[in-house]
Amino acid sequence: MAHKTVILYPSLGVGHLNPMVELAKVFLRRGMAVVMAIVDSPDKDSVSAEALARLAAANPDIAFRHLPVPSRGTERCSTNPVMRAIDVLRAANPALLGFLRALPAVDALVLDMFCTDALDVAAELGVPAYIFFSSALGDLAVMLHLPYYYPTAPSSFKDTPETVLHFPGVPPIRALDMGATMQDRDSDVAKARLSQCARMLEARGILVNSFDWLEARALEALSRGLCTPGRSAPPVHCIGPLVLAGNKGGASERHACLEWLDAQPDRSVVFLSFGSLGRFSMPQLREIARGLENSGQRFLWVVRSPPEHRSNSVEPDLDLEPLLPEGFLERTRERGFAVKNWAPQSEVLRHLSIGAFVTHCGWNSALEGIASGVPMICWPLYAEQKMNKVHMVEELKVGVVMEGYEEELVKAEEVEAKVRLVMAPGSGDGEELRQRLVTAKDMAVEVLKEGGSSHVAFDAFLTDLLKNTR
Ligand code: UDP
Repeated sequence: MAHKTVILYPSLGVGHLNPMVELAKVFLRRGMAVVMAIVDSPDKDSVSAEALARLAAANPDIAFRHLPVPSRGTERCSTNPVMRAIDVLRAANPALLGFLRALPAVDALVLDMFCTDALDVAAELGVPAYIFFSSALGDLAVMLHLPYYYPTAPSSFKDTPETVLHFPGVPPIRALDMGATMQDRDSDVAKARLSQCARMLEARGILVNSFDWLEARALEALSRGLCTPGRSAPPVHCIGPLVLAGNKGGASERHACLEWLDAQPDRSVVFLSFGSLGRFSMPQLREIARGLENSGQRFLWVVRSPPEHRSNSVEPDLDLEPLLPEGFLERTRERGFAVKNWAPQSEVLRHLSIGAFVTHCGWNSALEGIASGVPMICWPLYAEQKMNKVHMVEELKVGVVMEGYEEELVKAEEVEAKVRLVMAPGSGDGEELRQRLVTAKDMAVEVLKEGGSSHVAFDAFLTDLLKNTR
């Protein structure tokens, strides 16, 4: 078979880029050539040129290419970051088309779930297009069913936060836990997201970074067409967890926190990390610190400055001392490690010393926790994370909730109690959770082996792709 070239087109942001890089590695292993077309946006939440250069150096077999930012796209953008991303990506369509026309070969496009406008580019080029859905299968089930639900729903979920909503294949979801962009039915961003979801149905298939054992009910609902009654939908291919499928490559310099972890006993450290964008106010940082100190547990904590302090995400000179309770760093020096801004999260989670993960419930983080067999304490912050929290706690049973997320502040007492619950050996609920994670980790490995469900799903997708290329 001649090399086929697949174009991967991620949305803005680390949470979208990371799993696409893992997906690229799977394509390479299957003998395909991969070009990753990345929209070069000045948006502060986008991946920095530096981070991208690091990624490219670590993955020399993937052709990373920048598409120039269309200024038209960014000028009229709203302040809503999701709307802004959608606008920028839409405005990048001509640049994408021009770029692809200049390539010697383009056999298929794999588009991030936020890049549905690029389906027009695929049609123009006459190549098959697939969607890559980088969040939970449960979120896909909800998003595809939402147009059927909205007509009878209140115009704003914020008016009825405790109303319980029912969608096929997922546990009941309170209105307040619905995705942030979907809270107001008539908002521009909700309309834009719904129209993107409707367009996903035009693709030849939807690849999802999840696996059948983990989200069996949602997969069944989607496969039986229960989420899109009366409409034909493309097949859903559950090919994850990509964090394991892609394998790690390009060993770079080892982060100091990993050296510190090497010196800690197995399963003794609670890891706290809140995605690529999570930030807390100073009072919240102090509550966390007090909770960690009182828990008596070892911890590794990725700390960023409060949103009111800085607007850009890179802060090489971040000073933690004034942000945290006086003397905290000194008092916990023996058993705690605070990392500024960023840690190599998936590597940290795989380290044997990690016993629990306090997470903001971004889907990549959830999968990284599951693939490492680490019980989670779910503290959703933004985007679709409250919905993920529902899936993780009610359906997948891989975590407990930090209940205070609904309040202005999560109190130190709750941080302490939840950390103790999940870390304490032999505690009833904590033990059950740990056992569940042992099984989930084993399953995450199994499904990727030859004959495993994710491997088979990737085969089915590839067969379709090859059948539809020239
Ligand atoms: N991440 C990391 N170090 C950090 C914070 C995040 O490596 O300090 C990675 C994390 O491993 C994950 C991604 O960034 O792969 C975040 O994606 P996720 O879907 O969890 O959350 P998002 O950032 O999209 O909210």
